[in-house]
Amino acid sequence: MFRAFASLLAVDVGDTVFARAQFREFCKQLPLLYMILVCNALAIAVDFYSQDHLAETVLVPAVICGLSIMRAFWWLQRADDDLFSDAEIAKHIRRTCNVAVIFAITFNVWGMWIYELGDAYERGHLTFFLALTQVSSVFCLMTMRAAALRVVLSSTLLFISFFLWVDDGRMAAETIVLFFVSIGMVAVVRRHNIDFYDLIRSQSDLRSRKVEAEQLSEENRKIALTDPLSGLPNRRQMLARLDELDAHADLQPDTLAVMFIDLDGFKDINDTHGHQAGDALIVALAKRLSKFCPPFAMLARVGGDEFAILLEGSGAIAKARSLARRFEEQIGLPLRVDRQVLQVGASIGIAGNDEAGLQAHEILRRADTAMYHVKLSGKGGVASYSQSFDEGRLHRLAIEQEIGRGLANDEFEVVYQPVVDAQTGSFVGAEALVRWPRRPGGELDPQQFIDIAEATGQIHPLGLFVLERACRDFLGLADLKLSVNVSPSQFQDPQFERNVLDTVEDCGIPAERLQLEITEGYLLARPDRAIAVIAAFKEEGMSVALDDFGTGFTSIHYLRTYGFSHIKIDKSLLKGLRADNKVATLLRGTIYLADGLDMQVIAEGVETQLQAQILREAGCHMMQGYYFGKPMPIGQFVRAYRTNRRNIPRVVELRQRA
Ligand code: C2E
Ligand code: MG
Ligand code: MG
Repeated sequence: MFRAFASLLAVDVGDTVFARAQFREFCKQLPLLYMILVCNALAIAVDFYSQDHLAETVLVPAVICGLSIMRAFWWLQRADDDLFSDAEIAKHIRRTCNVAVIFAITFNVWGMWIYELGDAYERGHLTFFLALTQVSSVFCLMTMRAAALRVVLSSTLLFISFFLWVDDGRMAAETIVLFFVSIGMVAVVRRHNIDFYDLIRSQSDLRSRKVEAEQLSEENRKIALTDPLSGLPNRRQMLARLDELDAHADLQPDTLAVMFIDLDGFKDINDTHGHQAGDALIVALAKRLSKFCPPFAMLARVGGDEFAILLEGSGAIAKARSLARRFEEQIGLPLRVDRQVLQVGASIGIAGNDEAGLQAHEILRRADTAMYHVKLSGKGGVASYSQSFDEGRLHRLAIEQEIGRGLANDEFEVVYQPVVDAQTGSFVGAEALVRWPRRPGGELDPQQFIDIAEATGQIHPLGLFVLERACRDFLGLADLKLSVNVSPSQFQDPQFERNVLDTVEDCGIPAERLQLEITEGYLLARPDRAIAVIAAFKEEGMSVALDDFGTGFTSIHYLRTYGFSHIKIDKSLLKGLRADNKVATLLRGTIYLADGLDMQVIAEGVETQLQAQILREAGCHMMQGYYFGKPMPIGQFVRAYRTNRRNIPRVVELRQRA
């Protein structure tokens, strides 16, 4: 019991949060307590004033009041607990406990000292004021249990020991009442203290939970704005920044530029090396690009293989242009990922606020359009936005929708251009070429809509339509070979081989009669995959020809490694061909080399007898061109074929005689 009471009197400042809360509370209460003390001291002094006892009735209360007022001001100035360290607060609490007891004892001792000076009324007043002072002190110190209980203990002991005996025990009743009141106060202080402690604890828990929640929401915000793979800002963050910029209507011209980057060949890396390799490539590229990104730029990953860079500050457009060149170079460098060397290219579009009042979102759209323009122009490179790109894009969009409708409405046709034996002139095959004769808006040049179909992916159904139609048309022409064009993006499709084999099987045409023509562009972008696909087709018995040879940079020897059985010399190489000029020498050399490497040469775009003769003499194996027949519908082709079969033996005979 005694221990329990002693522990109630002990000053506990171990819990710094609680100590700080106590400090905060009694900073507010103590000035009030001192003012009550001043009032009560003044009341007693007035009551007991005596010229003969100036020391007891004036001097002492004056000192008490003076000290109390000083302490009250001192506490008022310490209202902000943030200015104090935990150690200072602990010190103030300890000191307050002691000062409270000193004041309580001083006040009580002074009261007892002057007690004898008063009459019965004044003595009654004195006991009342002493008791009042004690009760109000305890209530003001309520939040600081040790101080409150020390005051209760010291004042009650003094009060009892004095008033129980004074005036022959006539004050005993007041003393006993005060004793019980004190016990009550101890219980109230204890209870209040426990409640106060719980309140502070729950407030502090609440505060720390709020801090945790705020930290969590800040983390969530960061996650929502960051691309988890590369760690770069994501599309959302980029758009948010553009929103902010759009909110400032007063942007000066040439202070904003956006660069839009789309990787070329990334899909192939994912398809052939797996998504892990693709991810590793993105991470490595993000690191590489970040190194070259100036501090005033925001580099974001805005899509699977798309990056955008926002440049702010004067001269942004020129800076974007020079940065774009550097990025193109950096992206094109080979990357080592898990013992594999991977390489991609970049199509980059740039746009800036070269005119006043241009919105940041519009600049991003323009950069995207410029990038798309690069893609359509054969991928790889940098383009700055021009209004014509938008017009082109709208046109392409319209064509894209028309192709879809055209396929559904059977608007496409396939025509066949004869391929003849260079020596005899007899038909040995035909190239299938797509046409769009029933397009409601009028026929379009195939190269135009094929480029669009390729960019939008519609080349897949369109290409299969041509293949299927041509296989069926050629079923009855058993001794002719059928050559079908394949676009690079068809070749990249992992389903492509399966689709071709299924179609050939469904139609019932022998695979040996089929030849696929592909252009150089794809080979250079994806040599490993090209070699594998070509080998797979050859395994099935098909032959694969390289189309438009001479328009790129590939050497014949290099092509041999791909396994091509034929090369088709592009018609542009036949321009200005005469028997004795350099063009003829070049063609002779090409045919000679291809022949030496077991590849058959087909010359395209033969328009004149002279061209045919030079090529024949140069050893060209096959020819194709308007001189032998334009691309024609199947019915017309079959008739032309029959005529050719009838006439050719005569032609050969005439030639041999000549
Ligand atoms: P290509 O595969 O090189 O086809 C040969 C092109 O040359 C054809 O143009 C043909 O009509 C044209 N041509 C043939 N002989 C002569 C000639 O003596 N003089 C001239 N000036 N031109 C001649 P076309 O049909 O306009 O096709 C253009 C290109 O479109 C084709 O070039 C091919 O790359 C592509 N293409 C056509 N049909 C298809 C198809 O079904 N699928 C795919 N992927 N591409 C196709
Ligand atoms: Mg072709
Ligand atoms: Mg060609």
